[in-house]
Amino acid sequence: MTAQPATPPAPPPAAESRPAFGTVLASRMGVVRFADGQWGPAAVEATAPITLSPAAHVLHYSSTCFEGLKAYRWTDGSINVFRLDKHIARMRQSARHLVLPEPDAGTLDRLVREVCRAVAGEVPEAPGALYLRPLLMGTLANIGAAATPSGEATLLVLASPVWDYFAGGMKPLRIFVDDQNSRTASHLGMVKTGGNYAAAMKPTLDARTRHGADQVLFCPGGSVQETGAANFLLLREGRILTRSLDPSFLHGVTRDSLLTLAADLGYTVEERVFTVREMLDWARTGEAALSGTAAVLTGVGTLIHDGQEYPVGGGDVGPETRRLRSALVAIQRGESADRHGWLSRV
Ligand SMILES: *Cc1c(COP(=O)(O)O)cnc(C)c1O
Repeated sequence: MTAQPATPPAPPPAAESRPAFGTVLASRMGVVRFADGQWGPAAVEATAPITLSPAAHVLHYSSTCFEGLKAYRWTDGSINVFRLDKHIARMRQSARHLVLPEPDAGTLDRLVREVCRAVAGEVPEAPGALYLRPLLMGTLANIGAAATPSGEATLLVLASPVWDYFAGGMKPLRIFVDDQNSRTASHLGMVKTGGNYAAAMKPTLDARTRHGADQVLFCPGGSVQETGAANFLLLREGRILTRSLDPSFLHGVTRDSLLTLAADLGYTVEERVFTVREMLDWARTGEAALSGTAAVLTGVGTLIHDGQEYPVGGGDVGPETRRLRSALVAIQRGESADRHGWLSRV
């Protein structure tokens, strides 16, 4: 590994004009294409529109998957990616489930690091970060390929500077508990693919309009699963309960990291299937939270179920949620020891 000169961060935009999460792309992106049975050379290019055949497989048959991970600027000026190997493994797994060409781990690792280095000057200081969005899509030009996998693909690595997610304070979320709809097809729940978000869109917007809910917690058959884009955890002093891994939901890297950290801190971590009834019972005195890369851990203040509102704990973001969130964020920012080797300096 070569030593990187410390790159000074770009001056942050004024607090009142900071763009919303995901709306700004960094100046460079990674690109690599698969054709004729093999991956071509990977390159870092100026971020710009791409050309795509109107018959591209992804546009018709949704052959696409993505990742979301973050790189942090530490106070020593270095840029460090959180759990790069785990995100690479998940992207490759998504590609396999969608029968897309599978990028090799070494290529993805190098490309993510190269992009980080190329835009190092655009990485905001903490609590900001560089959000990285690897995206794989089927580009085979064939509108008759509904049951044929795309033998051509493009892999992009986009980078997006993000600022403080909770600039306006950590507001407890209102969550609509849906025990009717599924978020997605059960065998694709663990795949980070665009179609899953398309499927969750209307239920989520309906819950917003009808109940003023921020998100929907999908609980098909009365069994608690996850929201449209985040995992769900129940917390109380010394205990955490969350659904055990199965193909029906996305295996979050943040979830995994929080559970590992909680065990280190002496919490009893229970991973098992549980019902809406048990969740509502827990909520009377416990805490609930959503986990994901973008916001890390966000407290739930209210659960809405069957026309009734259930305040969670005191209806505010609870102390266990704050404690676990701070513990993970401190590791990500290089403020406490990285005992599990989660950070890769680019
Ligand atoms: C990305 C995502 C998560 C969170 O995963 P992280 O790896 O923690 O960012 C959870 N659920 C869904 C549906 C997701 O798309």
